[in-house]
Amino acid sequence: MSQFFRIKCPSCGNVADVAGTGLPCGNCKSPLNLPEDGVIQIYRMGSPMGIAVGMGIYLNENPLGHLANAETIRIPVPYGHYKLHMTHGANRKCKDVEFDITPEERVVYVKAHLKMGFISNTVVLEKVTGDTMPQP
Ligand SMILES: [Zn+2]
Repeated sequence: MSQFFRIKCPSCGNVADVAGTGLPCGNCKSPLNLPEDGVIQIYRMGSPMGIAVGMGIYLNENPLGHLANAETIRIPVPYGHYKLHMTHGANRKCKDVEFDITPEERVVYVKAHLKMGFISNTVVLEKVTGDTMPQP
């Protein structure tokens, strides 16, 4: 599993994977301090469909880069309510997932997979328990 955290620079909006807190943004060099309340971990299930296309990640409408096939990312976040939406190429269809990050539930695990449709495919997001996530 990746030990990196996916974050968006609050100064310039650059989205990057960083190894820890306080490191300089690759774009504007301001220090990136990671929220430490909780983590959203997203795994895209391996699939032979559309593997070349990264899924776009939107957390509370904020774009957070892409997720490759069979890739795991972790997004550090403050406590709060979150809605996760993901897209696949030009396809915006998604079964979103909503959840809260709280002191009782600081880590939320989400699996993403692509469901084939007659006209277009749908990204299906599912909140799961940590023991069903792939091990490092
Ligand atoms: Zn920056």
